[in-house]
Amino acid sequence: IHNLRLSVSGMSCAGCVASVEKALQGVPGVEKAEVNFAEHTASVQGRVEARALIQAVRAAGYDAAQMKGIGDQADQEAEEAHRLKGQVRRTLVAFALAIPLMIGGMAGLFPALKQPGGQFFWLLTGVLVAAVMVYSGGHFFANAWKHLRNHNANMDTLIALGTGSAWVYSMLVAAFPATVPSLARHAYFEAAVMIIAFINLGNVLESRARGRASQAIRRLIGLAPRTARVVRHGIEQDLPLEEAGLNEILRVRPGEKIPLDGVILEGHSTVDESMLTGEPLPVVKTQGDQVVGGTLNKSGTFLLRTTHIGEDTALARIIEMVRRAQNAKPAIGRLADRVAAVFVPTVMIVAVLTALAWYNFGPEPVVSFMLVTTMTVLIIACPCALGLATPISIMVGVGKAAEYGILIRNGEALQRAGDLTTVVLDKTGTVTEGRPTVTELQAFDGDQDRLLALAAALEQLSEHPLAEAIVSAARERKLDILTVADFEALSGRGVRGRVAEQELLLGNRRLLTEQGIEPGPWQSRAEELAARGRTPIYLAVDGQPQGLLAVADPVKADSLKAVERFHALGLEVVMLTGDARATAEAVAREVGIDRVIAEVLPQDKDDTIAALQGEGKVVAMVGDGINDAPALARADVGFAIGTGTDVALESADVTLIRGSLHGVADGIHISRATLANIRQNLFGAFIYNSLGIPIAAGILYPVMGLLLNPMLAGAAMALSSVTVVGNANRLRGFKPQQARR
Ligand code: ADP
Ligand code: MG
Repeated sequence: IHNLRLSVSGMSCAGCVASVEKALQGVPGVEKAEVNFAEHTASVQGRVEARALIQAVRAAGYDAAQMKGIGDQADQEAEEAHRLKGQVRRTLVAFALAIPLMIGGMAGLFPALKQPGGQFFWLLTGVLVAAVMVYSGGHFFANAWKHLRNHNANMDTLIALGTGSAWVYSMLVAAFPATVPSLARHAYFEAAVMIIAFINLGNVLESRARGRASQAIRRLIGLAPRTARVVRHGIEQDLPLEEAGLNEILRVRPGEKIPLDGVILEGHSTVDESMLTGEPLPVVKTQGDQVVGGTLNKSGTFLLRTTHIGEDTALARIIEMVRRAQNAKPAIGRLADRVAAVFVPTVMIVAVLTALAWYNFGPEPVVSFMLVTTMTVLIIACPCALGLATPISIMVGVGKAAEYGILIRNGEALQRAGDLTTVVLDKTGTVTEGRPTVTELQAFDGDQDRLLALAAALEQLSEHPLAEAIVSAARERKLDILTVADFEALSGRGVRGRVAEQELLLGNRRLLTEQGIEPGPWQSRAEELAARGRTPIYLAVDGQPQGLLAVADPVKADSLKAVERFHALGLEVVMLTGDARATAEAVAREVGIDRVIAEVLPQDKDDTIAALQGEGKVVAMVGDGINDAPALARADVGFAIGTGTDVALESADVTLIRGSLHGVADGIHISRATLANIRQNLFGAFIYNSLGIPIAAGILYPVMGLLLNPMLAGAAMALSSVTVVGNANRLRGFKPQQARR
């Protein structure tokens, strides 16, 4: 399955989004096609050739080109800048004619039709107006025509119809005054140019603001350095980044950007990773540590061996994820697109009804009134702002999240994260550091070393974090670790195996009970350890309890603050763990968590989530994605706590690059702000259209004698997209409360 990106041109209006998407989805092999109106791109997933897609887009009346690397982005931006210049020129030309025409008309400077030379003057004006309409508004007419041939209509159709009919009518008045009743002899040339001028102005302002909104991606792309200092056969040379291969040795000096992902071979340093993780404090890195391309080396010089290059680097994957998320639309946006798509035909029907109503029931001069009202309806009803409302906010919101090291996989997750009621936290590695250490040893016969050695012998084959703690404690004491036979890991309980002809069991209370072993006096000792937040682990030899090991996993320094923030957001916080109840409760107390669900087997964690959902809760699950992937997938929103450079966790909706719970709170904050922004946008866009249309149709005329000037309609339209884009840009300044920077 490919993932293709196209740059799409000719989408003058958000109504076009639906038609381009439909065209792309109609291509055989396409599984998913999403158009981003704010970015003028489409991303397509499926087994298809780019050529077939481009053809389909062309057939629908637009144009497209495939986008490949990061370089294409720069090309697209240059093209965008060029397009903007043209737009500005067309706008200025239109205003240059419209303003004198309007002022002259109001001041009575122009000759009447009946005056000598009057007809000539107006015919000449008509020709001039036509020329400017072609220069400044030709693209509206061209697009409208293309759509007409496809039996389609969009916003361009409305503009072309509105301004075109104004011109034709005015030209008729000027050329054949006799055929038009004298009262109706009024020319609307200035209205036609003014509308085109305003709509162009709206587009210019919108393009500018759109450029600002896509800053997040540009910032990320800017992080990648152009060259790398490659060490080959003992010789160092600066080479373009693309020429550095896998397992290449690179030298990184102080103050330089780290070119690619790799492992430090030699040297040490502190690295500023804030651009990717949002974590302001520099991180100490020494031999064997992973470093990430695009982050900043602060103090030392080191050699690294590259582990990821090109599309596989963490930075490239982050860019890809942000981009995909920015393209994705939550349900609320799909709805807006669907409305925008039916809006144009609806408006045309309303326009026809308006014309009929004024023709049949309107006052004299019937033709004039009919024209003005119909034209105004056509112009004010453009659903331009409506389709822009969602994607532009999503773009800003997703980019904002990326700034804080929060990678949102799709727009759906962004929307649901705003509605959460409950946050479920995995204990190990989420609330706690996930780096447990052995703190107590209690052996039946007082031989602590033997207890630890036997436990380590079993655990050397286990991958559990507890196992690592036990093995490294034994190594620290330089104990002999015997080999184990018939090893078996019992998920959520412990491990078993045979060591030195003895049958060993190591694990929690549940394990002993299931094996029919009575812990006896050990139980109260275990409970005592658990009450202090330790995880007690029993060792049984040949069915007899032999001792206890206690393992402590310190809570993360900022877990308490983060839990406070969840509460401030009005969320219920639940801790879910396979650990003993008493241990879990001690940890929960330490960080202020309300509710503990303990002693849950790994395979039952997703059922627990489902049960909470059954209580009507909207549940976020936060975990490391290792043994809680099903729970992450089951939750309404799954947050995967990042483990260094591994950003592409497929089971989670949201990946936090930094391993802090603050990322979850920031993410929820940003999601709520983004949703609020989308709602404001949709409201703003709808208000213009839905209040504007009836007024434009003349509903207030019988009562108040009020009609909307068609030029005002043009201005209102321009204003509506500017409001929406401006409001979305407000989000760029958003700061999650109490975020740590
Ligand atoms: P968590 O919910 O913290 O990820 P798990 O479900 O992985 O916990 O494990 C639950 C409990 O099972 C642990 O607290 C421990 O008591 C026991 N356990 C699991 N694996 C092991 C092991 N390899 N060695 C000892 N105890 C284990
Ligand atoms: Mg776990």
